[in-house]
Amino acid sequence: MRIASLPGDGIGQELMGQALPLFADVATARGHQFEVHPGLVGWDAYDVYGDVMPEQTWAICRECDAILFGAVGLPKRDKTLPPELRPERRALLPLRREFGLGCNIRPVRVRANLTEISPLKERLIAGGVDLTFFRELLGGEYFGSRTQDPAGQWAQDTCRYTFEQIALVARQAFIMAQTKRWKVTSIDKANITGATGTYWRQVVQAIHDAEFSDVELEHLYVDAFNLYMITRPKDFQIVLAPNLMGDILSDGGAGIAGSLGLLPSASLNPETGYGMYEPASGSAPDIAGQGIANPIAMFLSVALMLRYTFKDEVAATAIEAAVDQALLDGYRTKDIANGGEFVGTTEMAIAIRQRLQL
Ligand code: NAD
Repeated sequence: MRIASLPGDGIGQELMGQALPLFADVATARGHQFEVHPGLVGWDAYDVYGDVMPEQTWAICRECDAILFGAVGLPKRDKTLPPELRPERRALLPLRREFGLGCNIRPVRVRANLTEISPLKERLIAGGVDLTFFRELLGGEYFGSRTQDPAGQWAQDTCRYTFEQIALVARQAFIMAQTKRWKVTSIDKANITGATGTYWRQVVQAIHDAEFSDVELEHLYVDAFNLYMITRPKDFQIVLAPNLMGDILSDGGAGIAGSLGLLPSASLNPETGYGMYEPASGSAPDIAGQGIANPIAMFLSVALMLRYTFKDEVAATAIEAAVDQALLDGYRTKDIANGGEFVGTTEMAIAIRQRLQL
């Protein structure tokens, strides 16, 4: 089980430092052999190689089965490079393209007995919320052409979708929905983006009708869903969204759960099993280096890696249960402490590892 460990920038470093011992715990208990191959990415890499995604890091990723990623980007330093050489455009998007990571999964949970962490009123989330975002990751504005008038009078990004891109992520969403007997809510803006929005809706419906007609499917416009997600979050289970909309909505979902520091992310190539796993947040420069970042998103990302790439459901569930138990026992990092007492990154990570029952 070969894992490329790319901590990157800001809190990525601190979170990776906590995740690696977790592999040792799992390896001992489950008889796995993890080979962890560290690599440099982002400004960390730039300072050594003059490139935010050097060839050495590409080589490491190519010889591994999965990537555990921290975050890249430091707004102040990013500005010093032309856009195409900045970490997100030169590292993040090419990694997704190179490994065909077309399906991004982001589970957002408000546990029934931990609703106090959420900023929403108890009546809206009583009994808990369980939302899983399936975000398309290789199409839309993220990979469209970008043009800017040299005279500064206009700028243009294009949005393009292929049948295969939509079908790939839709199938993964429907498979989970079928297994769990959940509803799929597909998001678009078909009333305005008449080409890609309408196409998204048609393809999702076609895949549903041909292969998953037993699954409940609804289509909602992104603006309406954005409202309903906050006013009646318990009505949704699986949210299937285009790239840009999925990015925006899933951060909102993290807000419902209580913090971006709770939201893990799996970017998958369903055919090869290759995956890139990372907290859904960025490098959080506002708190980096202070030892207060929440390690939960990173731990849950390790759980997703064990589930989706290494097919060890027992270990994945055990990590998720250990996170729940640490929260139930009252451990809070600053972002979820509601102004009350809190522990640092390391204490939270240790509390979770101590509760790991494998
Ligand atoms: P961010 O996601 O880094 O942070 C948003 C807010 O959430 C901040 O207040 C931050 O403190 C908080 N937060 C995030 N993770 C947390 C954690 N684990 N514990 C506690 N609080 C946490 O967003 P930003 O400030 O807009 O972006 C910072 C940089 O990260 C930018 O350069 C951006 O381009 C980059 N970025 C990278 C990725 C990635 O590498 N996948 C994703 C998004 C943004």
